[in-house]
Amino acid sequence: IMRESYQSQHDAYRRVLPESSKVVIVGGKGALGARFFDMFTRSNYVVEILDKHDWPQAQTILKDAKLVLITVPIKLTEQVIVQLPELPNDCVLADLTSLKQSPLKSMLDKHSGPVVGLHPMFGPDVPNFVKQVFVVCEGRFPEQYDWLLQQIKIWGAVLQVDDAAEHDSSMELIQAMRHFTTFVYGRFLSNEKPDLDQLLRLSSPIYRLELAMTGRLFAQDPNLYADIIFGAKNALELATRFRQELDDAITLLQQNDKESFKQSFELVAQWFGGKSNEFLADSRTLLKSAQDSRIL
Ligand code: NAD
Repeated sequence: IMRESYQSQHDAYRRVLPESSKVVIVGGKGALGARFFDMFTRSNYVVEILDKHDWPQAQTILKDAKLVLITVPIKLTEQVIVQLPELPNDCVLADLTSLKQSPLKSMLDKHSGPVVGLHPMFGPDVPNFVKQVFVVCEGRFPEQYDWLLQQIKIWGAVLQVDDAAEHDSSMELIQAMRHFTTFVYGRFLSNEKPDLDQLLRLSSPIYRLELAMTGRLFAQDPNLYADIIFGAKNALELATRFRQELDDAITLLQQNDKESFKQSFELVAQWFGGKSNEFLADSRTLLKSAQDSRIL
């Protein structure tokens, strides 16, 4: 339903570069690549795709490109960058990879012109780009890729500049561990084999939402999530510390130690501080609008 809703919108956008400027999307037939093909097309660029079978025509496809945007599976990103022929001096080389440090380094090694690393913090199924976050990791000659950032802002997105290493380490928690624990919880449910319809029947909107946040992971591409989780440098250390937390909590259960549970609960509450009240208010608003629009 989400996919249809964005495709049925006929939004057109202002183009920052002059008429006939060419954008090449490497991996443009993929989930995210197709979405960017659509956005650049709606913005009246000349958009060409270089997907896996198009390499024999690479020279022609890339000729006079103003932007080459890499959006191939994470594990192929570096080899695809290395494989590129020499690009025009003024061409921007950018990527949409969920990891930033190593792709940015490969792009800087490959191309002596403008380079920028981007990470759209959303999947291809968003209805539009309004308020969606793009992490921007500066590469080289920011004044020469400024037009691309302006174009993304015209689409309504919010840019957050970050250092590539800091980005990768934040993503270990925002994405890798979040998806990993969701994966584990999904496995747990699938082994417990409860009747999902029964669970849903007894769930008010907040519980439906929580179940939906787990279940939605498994409607997506396992390759992407495997690459995000296994590509996180500290995944093993973080997951091991997570297991320790689970073991410690199980000990509380074994010892029927409600007091320690409550103490520990308070400590976590203190750590979240004022944010936990903000989160309570935000989630209340979210649920209200979901209910008003009859989503939940
Ligand atoms: P995808 O598998 O749907 O698409 C990848 C595309 O790359 C396919 O069209 C494939 O044919 C093409 N490809 C494979 N090998 C190639 C080659 N050698 N040369 C040219 N093209 C080749 O993957 P996706 O989900 O669109 O992800 C692509 C990138 O976007 C990844 O780096 C991912 O981290 C990033 N990303 C994805 C999402 C998401 O939710 N899908 C969100 C943010 C960032």
